[in-house]
Amino acid sequence: MYSREFVSYRLQQEVRGFRTALLSLAIACVIWQAAAASSSDEGGGTWAKSWRTNNPIWRGIHLALHSDDQTETLIEQLPKLSKLGVNVLVTEVNYSFDYQSHPEIRPGQFITKARARELVDAARKQGISVIPQINCLGHQSWSRNTSELLKHYPQFDETPGQYPENQGIYCRSWCPQNPEVNKVVFALIDELADAFEANAFHAGMDEVFIVGSEHCPRCKGKDPGKLFAKAVNDLHAHIVHDRKMDMLIWGDRLLDAKALGYSLWEAATNSTQSAVELIPKDIIVCDWHYTEMTNYPSVPFLLEKGFRVWPSGWQPLEATKAFGAFSRQQKNPRLIGYLATTWRKVKVQDLAEWPPIAEVLPKWK
Ligand SMILES: [Zn+2]
Repeated sequence: MYSREFVSYRLQQEVRGFRTALLSLAIACVIWQAAAASSSDEGGGTWAKSWRTNNPIWRGIHLALHSDDQTETLIEQLPKLSKLGVNVLVTEVNYSFDYQSHPEIRPGQFITKARARELVDAARKQGISVIPQINCLGHQSWSRNTSELLKHYPQFDETPGQYPENQGIYCRSWCPQNPEVNKVVFALIDELADAFEANAFHAGMDEVFIVGSEHCPRCKGKDPGKLFAKAVNDLHAHIVHDRKMDMLIWGDRLLDAKALGYSLWEAATNSTQSAVELIPKDIIVCDWHYTEMTNYPSVPFLLEKGFRVWPSGWQPLEATKAFGAFSRQQKNPRLIGYLATTWRKVKVQDLAEWPPIAEVLPKWK
């Protein structure tokens, strides 16, 4: 016969054992779910996943494209680029398109819908996918020239009436809280996406230095990270949710320059970096760095956050080689390849011979 104390002790033991079993089961479930997620979830839309099955490494070139003539030259270059292994072109068109929804925005030189289609068809025959781009939020001026959008809609400016001739600033931004700006921008995105038969869209968003300005009655005093995230999320709702395209952005505003050891250009010193926690992880982040380093901590940082990462280099050649070599060591399925940016350093007719393309892209096998 057991004493009352012993029975009580055994009961406690059994309850503890039951709790331990439940806890073990719960832990096993969590581990199984995490393993299932990591093995199957590379993020992104249907197109990117299916296209990547045949093109596991994205060897891309980013270039500004602003006229029919330039587009024709690019079409002529496609066989040479394909031979180098190029399978993606990111064409930054911005406002230089024959927009029917907002013809007032069209500058003197622009790309017609017919020529855009010609490019897409020719690229497809070479196994190259074309991703059009409008640089959103920031970069709404360059030097003394204000972009067509803010020229025609000055009320969208984050700093309306300030900085005559753009003196004292790097680039203008539009206000992410202006209730009218997205109506215009989404119409432009739709037209460009249709003309380029796009399955993915690059929304730019690099080097946004003016955000939450004291000159904006809506944004003054607001958290720059939340404002930047709002702009990303509004665009994502349209590009990914409504239009079913994949979305790409530049990565610099998601990175803490001080914590990661980067400059104020390729990472943020203006408090936008908290946005990294506030935006969807199915966005492809083009993580750009142009300096030769031994370590590029943003690459594992963004991968660990769950994004697909597209390392993006420029020049000099040694920097592109170092960045490429570091990125290839990551061995993560969400690292999708390499994007060579060009930034006015090479003419369209010379793309295939430019060393940061010719010597670097073929290393991505
Ligand atoms: Zn504002």
